[in-house]
Amino acid sequence: METLTEIPFDLDARVLMEQACVPPNSHDAREFENLLGAARAAGRPKVAYRECFIDARGDETVTIDGVTFTSRALRKNLENVQRVFPFVATCGVELDRVDRPRGDVLADFWWDTIKAALLAAAARHLDEHLTGKFRLGRTIAMSPGSGDVSVWPIEQQRQLFVLLGEVQKDIGVTLTDSCLMVPNKTISGIRFPTEHDFRACQVCHRENCPSRSAPFDADIWAAIQQD
Ligand code: SF4
Repeated sequence: METLTEIPFDLDARVLMEQACVPPNSHDAREFENLLGAARAAGRPKVAYRECFIDARGDETVTIDGVTFTSRALRKNLENVQRVFPFVATCGVELDRVDRPRGDVLADFWWDTIKAALLAAAARHLDEHLTGKFRLGRTIAMSPGSGDVSVWPIEQQRQLFVLLGEVQKDIGVTLTDSCLMVPNKTISGIRFPTEHDFRACQVCHRENCPSRSAPFDADIWAAIQQD
């Protein structure tokens, strides 16, 4: 498993305060700036990834370097793919250790906004690293637990962590019994080259999701249900 730990990040106060609805030059803005200072000092976004190859395919399964995943959508999306890149990207466990006031809902929301910016830096860095090192063209990623429950069940995080190796030891990310990752601002998945567009939101029926990045697509939904 490869790790990327020297990841540059820029926490732009104006942009982040706008995202967090903090009025400039206010008492809240000063509190937010304090949190930004703490995050700049402690933040260590990180990535773990592997270059892997597909061993075998079943009707609804795909086996990657000896680890079998069950997901019809993943199986279909990997139809013409040989090489994949499982990954975990995180804001970094250091931010959960920062000594800051806890229990204030607003301040916790601001802290999560800052952590999300560090996670975005890690995810961007991974994309640039993979594209440069492996000369990849267009890629997409799929993540266990994204989209409708049946698309790729979140429980398959366990297989993903097995495939990657010592994720906790190398970048500090742990998997809970319910397959959530800690720190909370962490993403995982498998990135692979493709000519097709696919986003989990296109196969997600959830209504009024504030994070939706693409409308539900009935054609893609139907395609992943077919044998
Ligand atoms: S619509 Fe929302 S819940 Fe569904 S996959 Fe997209 S971001 Fe996730």
